[in-house]
Parts: sequence; structure tokens; C-alpha cells
Amino acid sequence: MGKLICVDAGHGGTDSGAVGNGIKEKDIVLRTALKVGEMLKKQGFDVIFTRAADNYVNLGERCRIANFNSADLFVSIHINSAGNAQARGTETLCYSRNRFAEIVQKNLIGILKTKDRGIKERKDLAVLNGTKMTAILAELAFISNYDDASLLKKDLFLDDSAKALVKSVCEYLGVDFKDGEKTEEVLEMKKKIEVVINGKKDSIDGYFADGKNLFTADFLRKLGFDVGFDKNTKTVSVDNTDLKNIKVIVNGEEKEVPSVFRNDFNYIRLRDLEELGLIDLDYKDGVVYINSIK
Ligand SMILES: [Zn+2]
Repeated sequence: MGKLICVDAGHGGTDSGAVGNGIKEKDIVLRTALKVGEMLKKQGFDVIFTRAADNYVNLGERCRIANFNSADLFVSIHINSAGNAQARGTETLCYSRNRFAEIVQKNLIGILKTKDRGIKERKDLAVLNGTKMTAILAELAFISNYDDASLLKKDLFLDDSAKALVKSVCEYLGVDFKDGEKTEEVLEMKKKIEVVINGKKDSIDGYFADGKNLFTADFLRKLGFDVGFDKNTKTVSVDNTDLKNIKVIVNGEEKEVPSVFRNDFNYIRLRDLEELGLIDLDYKDGVVYINSIK
């Protein structure tokens, strides 16, 4: 029942593949392929690699490994290169256009946000014409382009590339993609949270983590609080700015007390009523004792 995926890291050993901007294709694609294999196993797939180390495997042998083991899908990982240093982006190669290639390209662009160079049919590539199962060759980015190469140096980019490929395998085979327990992802779940403040709709920058919506201090500011931060003590202070003085007439005498206006009511602190001489206040074991003074 388990589907077998053949993961093919291009080049290796004496064949370094494309080289540029201080990196080698064979190293980047191996790191990515190992991540893909690891992730596929977590999704419950069986995995075979054409190479899992820095060694040379010829193209015929790569096809033989996939065909001999009757792999269900063949995923080849490469890095592009061009004489024109401006060339950049991501493309998916296939023997003839197929649904898997379309899913792969869609997910790579969706997750990596690189330039979409589309799907290309290549009849001449050995790993595409020599494999019997559905096969694609992903060209993640251009080693010859400075910006693309900077991405390829980042582990997070390779993680994302692996994720896009694994998500594609799941999607193609109709299996639910289980997004793992990665802390980076939780941190990355920045989102707009729709809120209604005093009847007015608004959208607030927030994070979704641990099953909860988290708001920034800016949110409190929108609620009318003064939010300060003391860098030395790392203390956040929240002050209520809509604490306004209201006029109170006590025994014919005009006084002012601070008050908060909430839900159509002015709220006055008991402490202030005590200062006005109207009540006698005490507080014991969580209970407030109020005695009116006549
Ligand atoms: Zn290559």
C-alpha cells in the first residue's frame, strides 16, 4: 500500500554540477534531497535515494534504481545555471506535461515566492526519458544569479523547497499533507486578525501560536491605552489614557474624580469616593467592605 518515492539528488562526487557564488550544485541538492526524504518518511511514504552521500552515480544507474524498485514517483532535484547572471527563478522539467509537474511548479512558486519560469518539456534528459514512472526534475533556483544563490545558501530556503516537493507528492497522490511540528513555522504564522473595537471593524497584526491569537502592543494602543516599554527592565507598562476627570457634586460642592467610560457608563474608583468622604473603604481577604458615611 505504501507508495515508494525515488528521490534523486543531481550530480555528486567528481561531478559538482553547476558552480557559482561560492556554492556547488551537488552539495545544495544533496542537502535538499535528504530533507525531502526525511519529510516523505514522516508523511508515511517509502523512500529510496539515487545517492545519499557525495558520490558519483551515472544517469543510467539513477533510472535503473527507480525502475528496479518500481518507484511510484521520481523526484529529481537540481539547481539551474546560465551565462546571463540576470536569469533567475524556478522551473519544473518533465518528459511531457503532466499533473504532477503542474502541482510541483505551483507549490514551489507558492512557497518559495521565486520567479515563475513555468514547466518545460525535455525529451533529452536521461532521468526523465529513462524512468518508467511519473518523473519531474525541479530546478529550484539559479546558482549563477546573486540573489537566487543567496537564497540557496539558506537552510530555510532548502527546508521550504523540500516542503513544496513533499506537499506536491501528497497532493498528487491524494494524501493529506501533515505540516510538522516546526517552531519556525509557528513563529511565521503572522496574520491579520479581524477585530471589532467599540463597534468599529478593524484588522490587527497578530500571530497565531499555540492555538491562540496573539496581539502586538499596538493593539492595546488602538484600544486607547498608553503602552510603554522600559528596555532596561524589559517591562511593558500599560496606562489607561481614557481615564478622564468628571464633575461630581457632593453635598452641593463641585468635585472632580477620575473616571473611565465603558459600555455607556462612567466608572469611578471606590478609592476616589472614599477620598470624597462619601464612603469608608476596607479590603480584607479579597472582599471589599464599603460603609456609607452620612
Ligand atoms: Zn543539475
